[in-house]
Amino acid sequence: MKNSIPEEKIRAVIEACSDCDVCRHLMDADCLFFPQLYRLWDQEQETGEPASSRELRDLTDRCNFCALCPCPNIRADIIDAKTKFIARDGLKYGVRTIEDVERIGEICGAFPKMFNTLLRHRWSGSLVKQAFGIHPERKFPTFTQKDFSKWAKENNLHVQGHPDSKRKVAFFVGCTGRFLFPEVPKAAVTMLQNCGVEVYVPEQKCCSMPALLEGDRQLAIGFMRFNLQQLTEAVDAGYDIVCSCSTCGFMLKNLLKEGAYYSDEYQQTVRGDESLLKVPAGKDLLDGHREEGFVVLQKSIYGKILKDEGYFSALRAQDRIRVAEHTFDLGEYLEKLLQTGELSAPVKTFGGRMVYFPPCHGREQNIGRPYIKLLTLLPNLRMESIDGHFTCCGMAGIMGFKREFHESSIRLGQRLMDRIRQIDPDRIVTDCLSCRLQFNQCLPHPVSHPIEVLEKAYTGQ
Ligand code: SF4
Ligand code: SF4
Repeated sequence: MKNSIPEEKIRAVIEACSDCDVCRHLMDADCLFFPQLYRLWDQEQETGEPASSRELRDLTDRCNFCALCPCPNIRADIIDAKTKFIARDGLKYGVRTIEDVERIGEICGAFPKMFNTLLRHRWSGSLVKQAFGIHPERKFPTFTQKDFSKWAKENNLHVQGHPDSKRKVAFFVGCTGRFLFPEVPKAAVTMLQNCGVEVYVPEQKCCSMPALLEGDRQLAIGFMRFNLQQLTEAVDAGYDIVCSCSTCGFMLKNLLKEGAYYSDEYQQTVRGDESLLKVPAGKDLLDGHREEGFVVLQKSIYGKILKDEGYFSALRAQDRIRVAEHTFDLGEYLEKLLQTGELSAPVKTFGGRMVYFPPCHGREQNIGRPYIKLLTLLPNLRMESIDGHFTCCGMAGIMGFKREFHESSIRLGQRLMDRIRQIDPDRIVTDCLSCRLQFNQCLPHPVSHPIEVLEKAYTGQ
């Protein structure tokens, strides 16, 4: 039976990681979870006193699912423990409000002038922050006068185009792009259309990452159920799904389909022999007999471990696989268009020095650095990439906003900020809009999504 007691679930993680010990040093500087895990473990060894339920709950709060640590099963277990804590003990009011980025965007987006004034004013701004558990020093982004969805409707992007279009993209925008930085998805639309791609913006909700991170499974599954239906319909109509936000891409490509290949629903479509499990080769880190693009395993041995128990296993496995397999990161998609000759030459040159920061959920997609390839094609532009696998901006989704995490969030990003200060570029470029918020918090340099730079270079606007 699956462990349903949160304390036991997180204890199992503590036992496994203290036994292994790799992340004691590996994740020391870029994660809030592991340093605390080892502190608790060492304290237990010294005093013989086990960590309290409160300490265990606080420990799970420190993981932001950045996916930088080596074991996917460990971070899945941390989120599972946190979800179980929330299911049993509930969610704080402030967190319940700010985790629903979709609703905040809709409410504040309906009266942007009023909310922007309210948040900018020192006295009213600190009252709002206090009410929602936001740290007083955290800069709040400005709500746009017209969000992207309204613009997309005005430009008729909410309806599907001609069924015979050669290249068709269903654009999954993400909340931050829709409500705070609409210039980013607009640049993506212009760029794709410039390459002859038909762009359709289906109805969509939050990708679910903030709700998943806060342990609110019900909200996360509700968002994903809605998105899955819209996106499956788009895939059935021949659309590729493209995400300009690396976290949305990570959700749709990676997390959504976790476990789906092991489901009976999928197995019935691929296996002839009931005693076997067949998983597409390269889709999982599985080793075994290979046959026509599949790894073939004995069900009697592997069937007990390899089950459809991913976070989204309540949703239809075949739909999850279809959507995941048709989703591309925007940079990855543009690189594809470059290879097929559908992305023509840039028409504008601009000099200067930019530094590109690859966000963690982009790195996790294993697609290389498409934006670096595209940006280095721009004549006269000097590009530098901040790499090093374990570099984090510290924003951690909505965690950086929280009163209790703001200072740790700034500390976590310190190394990266120091490196950028050293380079002192004309502009920082990153495809994660949460990282952009953190750069805006910590540094004076202007920040762009790479698609904004590319749009200017390719359209001359
Ligand atoms: S996450 Fe994996 S590598 Fe890191 S300490 Fe835990 S078991 Fe070891
Ligand atoms: S996913 Fe990120 S925050 Fe969570 S334990 Fe791993 S490295 Fe730390």
